[in-house]
Amino acid sequence: MDAEQHNLFAVITRTAAERPAQPFLRLTSGQVVTFGQMLEHSARATAWIEDRGLKRGDRVVTQLEKSPAALMLYLGCVRGGFVFIPLNTAYTAPEVTYFLSDAQPALLVASSASPAASIATEARRECLGPTLEDAPWLSCDLAAPVAAVGPHEPAAILYTSGTTGRSKGAVLTHNNLSSNALVLHEAWRWRDGDVLLHALPTYHAHGLFVALHGALLNGSTILFHDKFEVAAVIDALPSATVFMGVPTFYTRLLDDPRFDRSRCEAMRVFISGSAPLLESTFLAFRERTGHDILERYGMTEALMVTSNPYEGPRRPGTVGRPLPGVDVRIMREDGVPAGSDQPGLLQLKGPNLFSGYWQNPEKTAEDHTPDGYFISGDVAVRDRDDFIKIVGRAKDLIISGGFNVYPKEIEMMIDALPGVAESAVIGVPHPDFGEGVVAVVVPHRGVPLDPATIRAAATSELAAFKRPKDVIVVEDLPRNAMGKVQKALLRTRYASLFARP
Ligand code: AMP
Repeated sequence: MDAEQHNLFAVITRTAAERPAQPFLRLTSGQVVTFGQMLEHSARATAWIEDRGLKRGDRVVTQLEKSPAALMLYLGCVRGGFVFIPLNTAYTAPEVTYFLSDAQPALLVASSASPAASIATEARRECLGPTLEDAPWLSCDLAAPVAAVGPHEPAAILYTSGTTGRSKGAVLTHNNLSSNALVLHEAWRWRDGDVLLHALPTYHAHGLFVALHGALLNGSTILFHDKFEVAAVIDALPSATVFMGVPTFYTRLLDDPRFDRSRCEAMRVFISGSAPLLESTFLAFRERTGHDILERYGMTEALMVTSNPYEGPRRPGTVGRPLPGVDVRIMREDGVPAGSDQPGLLQLKGPNLFSGYWQNPEKTAEDHTPDGYFISGDVAVRDRDDFIKIVGRAKDLIISGGFNVYPKEIEMMIDALPGVAESAVIGVPHPDFGEGVVAVVVPHRGVPLDPATIRAAATSELAAFKRPKDVIVVEDLPRNAMGKVQKALLRTRYASLFARP
């Protein structure tokens, strides 16, 4: 293989030159960016970065709203062999300062409204607006070649969303990203004529890699939404065949009575990930649309790891089977492989697995086993058919009175009760038990919920040490932008629940 063929850009744009006039992006304004224009913009963006003095392997940090220009900058960066580091626009100035000191980029590209636009930095700084008409690279050379890179050279560093602890930069190579894109292309049966409705953020692996690379590799048009807005998504669905979302997207679609079967007639597949999809959401979605959401599981450090099947039954509450080439094992805490249906730590390796945490060999070593498996931090069970269920995060484990309590088990019991929409079970300091189990429960909208019914059900269904010592009914659970419940925030909120007066 020629070296430039290892470049992720070359892999995912392999059919782009054959379809120059086909829309690559269709914006909500009606404006179109063709595949031909995408190739031109990304080539000029490569030259623009080079003109700023960067060499292959140098890092580019961006803090930009989702936009066509931000996307072209990403493509130009990968194309030129520079390392792309996108930051969420929600990060504050102190957070951005931390990322810049950690990443040491040669170039910082910011939108004028973002904290990165005004922060003190040694990096060269440029501002970028959202539209391509005034992109700063328009007058740059078209001739910059696709950089020849080795398969294991870094293409991007993504800071993990870090619901606990300080964010670490996961270094993803060209081969990590292209191998995963090729596996998903096959697993989800991308085909001619597919149109992707893209409403995910582009600073996270889900929107930037899984969705974007999938469409590009397939030569598919993207209906490009700057953010997820229920009404706009419902209006666009009849023109799409593939949709990817976090579970919150699906519950919000279901909350809108306009969302019905007729809107989904052209749809081929709805895919969910980044956080657990409730079984009740899966079933309500099936009832409303006739579609079974395809749930998959992955993480920044390893991209996509498992997927429910495209053909054959998709099992609600599971994340499906390991993807081809991905080696997944489930290990008990004592280091022995867990048997079928026994919980254990999910560990994995494969071509998708990142090369390590940026400048953090200690943390990289800590999160790998001596035989090279990555310790995901998720607790999972695998059934006899190889379907995997994520039953919790190792660090969410509650130890109450010396007993291990897996929150997911209690959440599943509570979620199955009538009137309950969802729940989060946490451990907070308790003077007698070390940690006390607390259930934070969200009722279905408008349905009164008596905590006593949850206590009664727990008494009849759970061993005493697992029963919540307090049940708190709330309207919503706090979530981050990727739909993950922020348990750390709940633990802080209820930290003094059992404090002695
Ligand atoms: P991130 O690195 O932000 O993508 O977060 C990765 C974590 O999200 C995983 O380690 C899981 O804890 C969680 N996650 C992703 N997909 C799923 C899923 N389908 N079901 C349950 N948890 C998921």
